[in-house]
Amino acid sequence: MMFQYYPQVQHSFIYELNKDINFAAAHFIPAEAAGKCSRTHGHMYIVNVTIGGDELDETGILVDFKAIKQLVCDRYDHTLLNEHPEFRDCHPTTELLAQTIGLRIRQFLAGKQNRPQCLQVIVRETPTSYVVYRPKRVT
Ligand SMILES: [Zn+2]
Repeated sequence: MMFQYYPQVQHSFIYELNKDINFAAAHFIPAEAAGKCSRTHGHMYIVNVTIGGDELDETGILVDFKAIKQLVCDRYDHTLLNEHPEFRDCHPTTELLAQTIGLRIRQFLAGKQNRPQCLQVIVRETPTSYVVYRPKRVT
């Protein structure tokens, strides 16, 4: 696993959980401004998800680490991102991938009685490039 600096997100939750996830995927950005990225190429994406909450579930956890990994990897690992319906009307840029992952996690967490919240999603596309997505808080 990587060793890197993670931007922190401010919050007042009692618990904070972080999950690192990586997956291999291909994409292309069909726009003139994308230059050579308009051609199909692959990345080893590295994702960090931050989840906060004030209550644990009946097992004593905020949320299952494995469930968060599966939400991302089962969908995107070894796929062409452009083929997913969520990228039918937009390009699978790092920003929109981070947003999409954030929305998927938020939907998953909405079903939890202890109400954990997705606070931040970092998507690293290359060793020198990453995006931080911080969804608006659900109150
Ligand atoms: Zn790329």
